[in-house]
Amino acid sequence: MDDQFCFDDSPDAVLLRKRFEAVQKRLKDLVPRAQYEKFIRPLHIRGKEAHVVALLAPGKFLQVWVQDKYKALLEKELSEVFGEPVEVYVEASLHTREEAPTEDEGVFTPAIADAMAEQYNFNNFVPGPTNELAYNAARLVAEQPGDLCNPFFLHGKTGLGKTHLLCAIQYELNRTNPKANVRYQTGHAFTTGFLAALERGATTQFKKTVESSLVWLVDDVQFLDGKVRTQEEFFHLFNQLIHAGKQVVICADRAPRDLNRFEERLRSRLESGVVAEILPPDTETRLAIVRMRSEELGMSLPDDVCEYLAYNVAGSVRTLIGAVKTFIATAKLTRCRPDVSLAARTLDQRFGSDPRQTLNAANIIQAVAAYCSVSEEDLRSSSRKAWVTRARHVAVYLVREITGESWKRIGERLGNRDHSSIIHGYERISSNLSKDSDLKRDVGALRRTLGAD
Ligand code: ADP
Ligand code: MG
Repeated sequence: MDDQFCFDDSPDAVLLRKRFEAVQKRLKDLVPRAQYEKFIRPLHIRGKEAHVVALLAPGKFLQVWVQDKYKALLEKELSEVFGEPVEVYVEASLHTREEAPTEDEGVFTPAIADAMAEQYNFNNFVPGPTNELAYNAARLVAEQPGDLCNPFFLHGKTGLGKTHLLCAIQYELNRTNPKANVRYQTGHAFTTGFLAALERGATTQFKKTVESSLVWLVDDVQFLDGKVRTQEEFFHLFNQLIHAGKQVVICADRAPRDLNRFEERLRSRLESGVVAEILPPDTETRLAIVRMRSEELGMSLPDDVCEYLAYNVAGSVRTLIGAVKTFIATAKLTRCRPDVSLAARTLDQRFGSDPRQTLNAANIIQAVAAYCSVSEEDLRSSSRKAWVTRARHVAVYLVREITGESWKRIGERLGNRDHSSIIHGYERISSNLSKDSDLKRDVGALRRTLGAD
């Protein structure tokens, strides 16, 4: 269970929960059923300090949506229950994967897409050396769709800003050209939409919806991995749009050549235009992100706190922003001074005793060696003993997942292996995780040990 949903059972906490449940009950009558189920029921109360009530939404999507559409209503109802005017502050639970609702036709309704696009635009994206090409290409797409960067394939590990850039393109195009048909869709939504249409015998209608787009933005296309029929449909639509001079932008968590269970012709089509990779940001960019996000959250943090957070949370920007949000919420809810010592305590709770120790490649390799009872030397050696190979693959997998380090760099760390054998190791683990329960347990245990859960 998400640790943020584990509340203590003190009378205060119980009372808060009861009050919030009463509010949910009232909202059940005020909000349409489907929306209540989707947006209100999943909320939890995190705490109340002075007149600020902090609510937790499972995932960023819900956070944006609730903040945008239900904040006023929640404030009204909560104020009544608490007998005083309260302000609502919605946080996203840090561990939950963001999952946007999907529509029957596999596309977002304009209202939902707008809510996301409004939050993510070019003004609140911090460019830096590790996302420069991605950022510039996205801007160009928004200025001149269907021109130089077509198709545009954007890839990178999770939490590095791919969805942000897609939404920024959408936002910009909607702003400058409100009539243009800009369609944002996830690979998951495309697949379920297509399969549902197939079942209903309505594929022509499904195709038409996509074909009518001027710009087609497809997020997380890796979801189509191994789905032959869906890939075929996707391939045709992709070609059709490109031939018609429409803009296509695709995002994935890996490069086209690493989409192993994609048909070769589709893989090569995907890399026929501009391909850009986003890597984890350098310290300066992280610092700028911390500054910007804390301002947005209504608290301008002292320089040393910004630096502490930026220097100590590596890898995903999502994790970094999560740390900023937790820090601000803690400061607001506990009235502690927002200083470095509070930042240290916040990170301590999130990542274990010293995030610098736990979140770098060297320490991950060390932890894997210790856990698998092999030496670090073994991991770097050419040994092909089954248990050593397995431990090495787990190390590759965790280093890549947690730090987002390049294949090349990981190869250097593990006995100067070439990047294809590193990718192979990564793939082995990621594809076996769902099938091999021992592996799943080990990787889970290591993640917890490292505080990267
Ligand atoms: P991805 O789609 O790659 O998994 P997201 O686009 O969802 O990642 O980004 C995760 C979070 O990090 C979002 O809140 C996003 O706004 C933020 N983010 C990522 N990169 C940047 C950046 N360069 N500047 C500002 N915010 C960023
Ligand atoms: Mg994304």
